Amino acid sequence: MTDQLERLNRLPLRTNLRGLTPYGAPQLDVPILLNVNENTHGVPADVRAAITEAVTIAAVGLNRYPDREFTELRAALAEYLGHGLGADNIWAANGSNEVLQQILQAFGGPGRTALGFPPTYSMYPLLAAGTDTGYLAGVRADGYGLSAESAARQVRELQPNIVFLCSPNNPTGTGLGLDVVEAVYEAGEASQTIVIVDEAYHEFAHDGTPSALTLLPGRERLIVSRTMSKAFALAGARVGYMAAAPEVTDALRLVRLPYHLSAITQATALAALHHRVALMADVEDIKRQRDRIVSELQRMGLKPAASDSNYVFFGGLDNPHEVWQGLLDAGVLIRDVGIPGHLRVTAGTETETTAFLEALELILAGHAVQPA
Ligand SMILES: *Cc1c(COP(=O)(O)O)cnc(C)c1O
Repeated sequence: MTDQLERLNRLPLRTNLRGLTPYGAPQLDVPILLNVNENTHGVPADVRAAITEAVTIAAVGLNRYPDREFTELRAALAEYLGHGLGADNIWAANGSNEVLQQILQAFGGPGRTALGFPPTYSMYPLLAAGTDTGYLAGVRADGYGLSAESAARQVRELQPNIVFLCSPNNPTGTGLGLDVVEAVYEAGEASQTIVIVDEAYHEFAHDGTPSALTLLPGRERLIVSRTMSKAFALAGARVGYMAAAPEVTDALRLVRLPYHLSAITQATALAALHHRVALMADVEDIKRQRDRIVSELQRMGLKPAASDSNYVFFGGLDNPHEVWQGLLDAGVLIRDVGIPGHLRVTAGTETETTAFLEALELILAGHAVQPA
């Protein structure tokens, strides 16, 4: 045991936090960062200018607490989502991770459980532990698929208080059919299960992919979570949100900290929403790079999963860690998600994607690669 861990364990830490490691994707100083599914295209100049202006105006009133109800932002998010949603259906926080934490605080907690289907987003079990909610690991089919029948059966058997459905799933990139969401919701009727569909990457889905937002009418236990961290290139601003029945937002009001969304955050998010044309053009380019990665990896004899996200999960590697290290030596950081034979890469700009593909091809051919 390390010194640090020993010192930590001497503290009167809550039992279910003992032995846990914090979320920790490596933050390394590398020229090409394709490891945490950030938007690689940066914030477009007109969006930057709009944010700067909005923040300058907000700064005038920083002596006052912000609008606790972030009314203008909720209305703008509802307008962006469409589907007949109004401000009453929307809730936001500092990243969708905070929204998920608030959902667990309101509907999970001691004696309650949340079900996820690994491999899936690594924050679900950590958020469960942080709120003293039991985490149940469901099972997927070979190839990581999840059918409506299997998911519904697991919900009926386990009767969790909360279910996480990640669509498209992180790290695999593959979306879930709405039939899975409908079946899980129905299966959770007896246990009054809250069903969260995490659509953090929905904007990157292939055209015509339906959102679980279409299922909200008449389903008061369904929550669709989204984020501005990915498509909106605002990971650093920390803005996530969800859409659900108005009574769900009332539940989250019971656990949120007062004034949790700063005036700076609200102004930043509003400016980006109002100037989203350039952002959505970048999303289209990222989708092209994503599709290019899939076809190039296939050409190299690897096994990329179908992706509706801004990243590609790929198998067929004999020694993923060596490939990961080789790419890092070449100045390209991607993600080893700990799944045998697999790695995950975020779609970069055209130049970054080319650097990744060229370095990978050389590594697979057994050559050492020079830093990009
Ligand atoms: C990136 C990501 C999020 C977004 O988290 P934020 O807190 O909004 O930055 C949520 N869910 C999944 C599955 C993700 O990969």
